[in-house]
Amino acid sequence: MNHWQEELSQLKTMNLYREPRWISSPVGPVMNIGGHQVLQFSSNAYNGLNNDQRVKRAAIKALEEYGTGTGASRLVSGSFDIHQKLEQKIALHKKTESALLFSSGYAANLGIISAVTGKDWVIYCDKLNHASIIDGCRLSGAKLAVYQHCDTKDLLHKVQRYKDHKGLIVTDGVFSMDGDIAPLPDIYTIARDYGLLTMVDDAHAAGVIGITGAGTSEYFGLQGKIDIEMGTLSKAYASEGAYVAGSFELIEYLRHKARSFVYSTALAPVLAASAMEALDISIADATSRESLLALSKLTRSLINDSGFDVPDGFTPIIPVILGTAERVLSASSYLMKQGFYVPAIRPPTVKTGQSRLRISLMTGHSENDIRRLVSSMALWKAGAGS
Ligand SMILES: *Cc1c(COP(=O)(O)O)cnc(C)c1O
Repeated sequence: MNHWQEELSQLKTMNLYREPRWISSPVGPVMNIGGHQVLQFSSNAYNGLNNDQRVKRAAIKALEEYGTGTGASRLVSGSFDIHQKLEQKIALHKKTESALLFSSGYAANLGIISAVTGKDWVIYCDKLNHASIIDGCRLSGAKLAVYQHCDTKDLLHKVQRYKDHKGLIVTDGVFSMDGDIAPLPDIYTIARDYGLLTMVDDAHAAGVIGITGAGTSEYFGLQGKIDIEMGTLSKAYASEGAYVAGSFELIEYLRHKARSFVYSTALAPVLAASAMEALDISIADATSRESLLALSKLTRSLINDSGFDVPDGFTPIIPVILGTAERVLSASSYLMKQGFYVPAIRPPTVKTGQSRLRISLMTGHSENDIRRLVSSMALWKAGAGS
């Protein structure tokens, strides 16, 4: 066997080999996945706007007006008026002085964290933060102090240990694989007491929590108090790209120093336009947001009632931890045969022994959809899958 074959066969033996599922439909509760119409619970398109007529019309309008790609980075000739309009809209929505777009959330985290911190810094990082945050921390060369998940006692302990250093506390707002919410008020207090910067990644919170969908800071009444608020346009906002919102000075600084901003081609206008329309729709539609959170709560209790162990909460990310990769694959493939797609999340995305079904809900899922899914899960648990 050559090197690649060896590596790949090892993944296969460990049940960690992954294959794409080819999609041939728009994103919605029902999708054509691998040639089958299924009810899917796998998407981060929480607001169900990816195939919305209004969003598509905005995209088509931008396509007609600007064409496809931007052909240059933002600081050369890639800054279009639509980027400026979207940045202003995001700043207004986030109640910050300014905002800046990136071409993806991954690029944003790498660029922001490596620009803001450096070798003489300590970054306090939640153990379950997204991979792009970890990679940004590594790139920065700062000392990484990983604290236990959402454990502000452990955070404080580590902050006290390094208190003579410049520091940044960074956390997911809503955690991508667990669906719980960072204890932002305590994090904010610790940062204020010890003179540290704070950063929140709102990829799964923007458009989902907070009264206007402005995310974690709004949910906790801390708008304008978090130094660096990053979020994506690729999830609830039905498009691609990401933003950072904060003070004028922060944004000016990042415009010069965030390498993934400076050295990358500007976001396509069609993506900016669709994100902008989705953002407008989302802000105006508190009812859909509330319904989604209520449905998420109901789903958790229905799953618990059928003998699974699901944490309390109300975000649309619902982890059903089953343990081994093998077990979660069995559940996921059984559900697929019944017409439900729920992805099996395995290492390295989650810790070994923490493999899980990750149910994610979106506007458009009905209570009946949930009840059908949960009955199938109960059948699998009763042995139907083996
Ligand atoms: C998805 C995600 C990202 C990356 O965003 P992309 O726009 O998909 O590159 C960053 N942080 C978190 C927490 C995410 O879930």
